[in-house]
Amino acid sequence: MWNRVEHTAREVFGTFGFGEIRPPIFEPTELFARAVGGETDIVSKEMYSFEDRPADLPANVAGAFGPDYARQLFSGHEKGEIPNSLSNRIALKEIRQRLEEIDTEYPKMRLGSADASAEAIEKYNSLLQRLAYLISRVSLGELVSLRPEATASVCRAYIEHNMHAWPQPVKLYYTGPMFRRERPQKGRYRQFYQIGAEVLETVQQGQGGAKDIPKDAAVDAEVIEMVMAFFGRLELQGVQLEINSIGHNSPDCRRGYVEKLKAALVEVKDKLGEDSRRRIETNPLRVLDSKLEHEQAIIATLPRIGDHLCDDCKSHYAELKRQLDLRGVKCHENWRLVRGLDYYMRTTFEITAQGLGSQNAVCGGGRYDGLVELLGGPPTKGIGFAIGEDRLILSLQEARKEVASGEGRVASGKIGRDVYIAWMGKTSEETAIRAAQKLRTAGLRVELPPVEQKFGKALGQADKLGSRYALILGDDEVASGQWTLKTLADGSQKKMGEAELVEFLKGARALSG
Ligand code: ATP
Ligand code: MG
Repeated sequence: MWNRVEHTAREVFGTFGFGEIRPPIFEPTELFARAVGGETDIVSKEMYSFEDRPADLPANVAGAFGPDYARQLFSGHEKGEIPNSLSNRIALKEIRQRLEEIDTEYPKMRLGSADASAEAIEKYNSLLQRLAYLISRVSLGELVSLRPEATASVCRAYIEHNMHAWPQPVKLYYTGPMFRRERPQKGRYRQFYQIGAEVLETVQQGQGGAKDIPKDAAVDAEVIEMVMAFFGRLELQGVQLEINSIGHNSPDCRRGYVEKLKAALVEVKDKLGEDSRRRIETNPLRVLDSKLEHEQAIIATLPRIGDHLCDDCKSHYAELKRQLDLRGVKCHENWRLVRGLDYYMRTTFEITAQGLGSQNAVCGGGRYDGLVELLGGPPTKGIGFAIGEDRLILSLQEARKEVASGEGRVASGKIGRDVYIAWMGKTSEETAIRAAQKLRTAGLRVELPPVEQKFGKALGQADKLGSRYALILGDDEVASGQWTLKTLADGSQKKMGEAELVEFLKGARALSG
């Protein structure tokens, strides 16, 4: 199933002109903090981060390193392997003082002297404790994080590899694991898989602005069309696309709206739950996301972003809807669909599917013009999405369970075989091996049992593996050159010569896809 999903993504995205990019699993924490935003849940709570360190310096995992380790820190600092930050300099300064104390006042202790007083031992131990604490305060290197998402990495790569000089736009997709510290539950994991795509286009001199609106909207619509085509090809059930425009970050557009929203929220503050009350100040748009039952009626009365978009964002949104319609993509407008980040703008969308309970979002996406520039690149437009592959597969499995209930032959999860070679008798071993080689070369999925089996057992095994055919090779078949092929579904049998049989099976395979 995972294979089929990823294979289908490659095929469908390929037909839209996308190429694959493989970003690394970890990157400097700073990249995610900047791109995703330091205030977001993803960065502030969910990232797995750790300190990089010089290769010859052991990790201070036990938090209890002593004087020898401290001396290594000094040499690392002198060689420039450890960051020369203010906090490191302060910690190292005190480490030096403590080391001197240890060296001058307690030399005997260090040699494990037995006649030290209890008081001296206690003092020495607390000195060592302080030293261990100070050592733990030294940052050994850059903070790196396991990627919580890949858009930041794709934008980083776009800049690093000068993709603005490639024919524009640059269309890329990726698949792979992402990591977020979350409470694991159905459809929510700490290591999960995403399939995503991004369209990046650097704005050439003299271009951009309002005259690009029809083009941008068409690009957005094509990206959405592509995800829907992918889901369609997989026959994902209960697919629902929701769209919204969140305008752009300007006083005459989203910023002005957020002020109005804030004012309206303050009015109803007393009726809101604790989370929403807090968000009035930190991130008022997120209040619209609330799933709390008693807040729904209140939220319905709040001002809507659609009434406060600037003219450009309004015409972009209208054009997006026209473009989706042209492409036969059905959608629902949801004015409450938001993304919490400043650089997201205009198009936002989310896709849900059936069989997933409350974690039913299988894809989220949107436009993020300006992100590449924020990361130090040229002014560049961006639109992309990320599909939660685990959830996608859960949904496909649920649907398959419904169809397959009652049908036992090829249960889900079985690899299946085209041909099971049921061979028996001394003379047939060599023929069976040759037959397996021929059929595999022709692309058929073949099971060749390593030792001969009784006829009944072989057929039972063939059936369990979900084979379509059993090729029966006994001494008679080998002697006559006429092989027996049994169709397992109906039990019918026919005899054929070797060449004819290979051709027949190739044809049967082509027919079944
Ligand atoms: P949610 O609101 O469910 O936490 P999100 O807004 O954090 O989702 P995005 O960052 O937009 O999710 O990621 C896109 C998609 O990745 C989601 O729609 C979902 O299908 C999937 N996804 C996100 N987090 C997880 C996770 N912890 N486990 C499995 N899939 C996930
Ligand atoms: Mg989340």
